[in-house]
Amino acid sequence: MTDVSLTTPPETGETRRKLFYPHGRWHPEPGDLFEIAAGVFWLRMPMPFSLDHINLWILDGGAEGWTLVDTSIPASSCKDVWRPVLKRLQAEKPVTRLVSTHYHPDHLGLAGWLCKKTGASFAMTQTEYLMARMLLSDQRDEPPEQAVRFNEKAGYPLEKLEEMRREGWGRFARAIYPLPDEYLRLKEGDVLTIGARDWEIVVGSGHTPEHACLLDRKGKVLIAGDQVLPRITSNISLHPTEPMANPLGDWLDSIEKLRALPDDLLILPAHGFPFKGLHERLDQLEHDHRHKLGLLRRFLSDPRKATDTFEILFGRPIGDSEFGMATGEALAHLRWLEAEGLAMRQVEDGTADLWRAV
Ligand SMILES: [Zn+2]
Repeated sequence: MTDVSLTTPPETGETRRKLFYPHGRWHPEPGDLFEIAAGVFWLRMPMPFSLDHINLWILDGGAEGWTLVDTSIPASSCKDVWRPVLKRLQAEKPVTRLVSTHYHPDHLGLAGWLCKKTGASFAMTQTEYLMARMLLSDQRDEPPEQAVRFNEKAGYPLEKLEEMRREGWGRFARAIYPLPDEYLRLKEGDVLTIGARDWEIVVGSGHTPEHACLLDRKGKVLIAGDQVLPRITSNISLHPTEPMANPLGDWLDSIEKLRALPDDLLILPAHGFPFKGLHERLDQLEHDHRHKLGLLRRFLSDPRKATDTFEILFGRPIGDSEFGMATGEALAHLRWLEAEGLAMRQVEDGTADLWRAV
């Protein structure tokens, strides 16, 4: 691109916790595009949460136009960053395709808006697209009784259950601009040729059911979404819709699967800084979960509610806004132990399940 404003990244990279960050802690300013690899532009989008940004990727498809990967949320502050960026891109050629790695609002929230503004086609894996469509259409004044019971069994205090009833059901719809009504299905192993690069779809699971990563094997780049993050760990949660799922099992299987990818890829994560050291990071992520599972199992020598395990799993007080996510994450770890035959639960009507080690 000819007219991008660039701040210059540091000349030398930096190694932290055995991962190599080619540009250290540098990142482009909001609205600036930085060509991190030939034809791959990095747009860092600020977000008004404790997770204060998301990394979006813009791929140069040559004569075919631009492909956007992920979107950010439908906040006016995000649209304000997008507008001049789109103008700059479209001054050169059209934006023809948008890919969302998974259904979470920071990745999908503006898909409908961006497609409407640009005429781009929209691509996603099937489970993620259908999940989003399902969540969008499932809005109710009252939460399903089964979901309330799910949280009661996890150990929610009475006032949190009442709060849940007051809030109603369908928060997802408020975090998403109406979705594109049609999509192009991405499948494991599909190849998207975009300009000089061939991007292979590699699917991971556990954070969401069918999360797409984009792998350019020849060019040694992986657009990793939330499947491999350098510093924070992705949320792995059990949800009321499928209480007997084993998302942590899926996540650990995905780590194993990703180990088959080359170690010398430049990893472009959705949050944090681009890095090299895929295998090391996969080891760290697996170690972190297995360490927590070990601590948790010891903690279950006495019977505990899921919400009692926060101190073991997170080692810090859990605030009100994180309570739901922390519960989902605690249950995911407990369910893994149960599925492996290492823990069991005592179920009693009208009160919380008690988990203990076997
Ligand atoms: Zn996510």
